[in-house]
Amino acid sequence: MSSGTTPGTAPVADLRSDTLTRPTRGMREAMVSADVGDDVYGEDPTVAALEARVAELLGHEAALFMPTGSMANQIGLRLHAGPGQEIITDHLAHVLRAELGAAAAYSGITTRSWVADRGRIDVDTALQVMVPDGGAYQVGTACVVVENTHNFGGGTVQPLDEMQRLRQETASVGVGVHLDGARLWNAHVATGVPLADYGSCADTVSVCLSKGLGAPVGSVLVADTDRIARARVLRKRMGGGMRQVGLLAAAGRYALEHQLDRLAEDHARTAAVAAAVGEAFPGVVDAARVETNILVLDVGAAGWPAAEFVAAVGDRGVHGYPTDARHARFVWHLDIDDAMTRHAQETLLAALDERAAGRAS
Ligand SMILES: *Cc1c(COP(=O)(O)O)cnc(C)c1O
Repeated sequence: MSSGTTPGTAPVADLRSDTLTRPTRGMREAMVSADVGDDVYGEDPTVAALEARVAELLGHEAALFMPTGSMANQIGLRLHAGPGQEIITDHLAHVLRAELGAAAAYSGITTRSWVADRGRIDVDTALQVMVPDGGAYQVGTACVVVENTHNFGGGTVQPLDEMQRLRQETASVGVGVHLDGARLWNAHVATGVPLADYGSCADTVSVCLSKGLGAPVGSVLVADTDRIARARVLRKRMGGGMRQVGLLAAAGRYALEHQLDRLAEDHARTAAVAAAVGEAFPGVVDAARVETNILVLDVGAAGWPAAEFVAAVGDRGVHGYPTDARHARFVWHLDIDDAMTRHAQETLLAALDERAAGRAS
């Protein structure tokens, strides 16, 4: 599916995900000219520079470049928990819903979860669910996972003070925290909270370079030096040891330098559409709760099954993703401009109007 503007036709807005971004010209140039070496031997200078930069940004000792965010999360979890231990998180978490059971399949880790409003962190419930020392009777909780921003929650930003409280309460009983920060960049840009402040709330943090930042591939896991040494072994065992991969790390370095601050533009476009839709259809979205680049519409509240709504607006060149039976997700990113945003807004409103009119008649 191509996106872009052809003269004389309505622009196509592919808002299925912020993974759809294509490398910019400057990024491609940085990739072509990257210094490289064999990274399994630890000899790729561009990978080393990227890892050092991300560790520094997040205030941790060390970092490891990974092919995907799923691998970064799953190796992060494996550093906390082994077979028969559990991790706990909210019911919409990416590690539970979108990594195809990897924690169970690869690490023998069990999971429990609770229902969370828009994926928002709920420290009291987490502490209630957590079993710090299960002994010979109950499954022991090794780690609590926090996702910031929260993908299926609708780009929800986790409040720093709640993350800090979770960190303190879990650390005092020896339970770890993993931060799935695939879109931590968006939380940072939306709130101005330094990345290192978020980083200080977890033992292990994963971040994606291939979402709104616009790199074609790549995630990074950060932690202390000992954990990253173990993660290096686990990555190789999973088949994730890569060779002259500085070509890809160069894209990540470029993204951090040139394409981080512009996430604010994605947030502004998302907020504008949320405001327009929320004003006309308050039951479909509360614009005050749309915080970053993800717009989740409760199209069910307007009488649309999510899959039908996504198909209907898709026929008019606005592509989204049904996250469940009644919710449709639209994600803003680097390849979406103002004209596409206007087209998306008009199309979403028109489709919602039609169903409202149909129901009224
Ligand atoms: C995209 C994403 C990941 C990683 O996904 P990959 O496709 O494996 O890179 C992890 N967590 C969240 C919240 C995500 O949105």
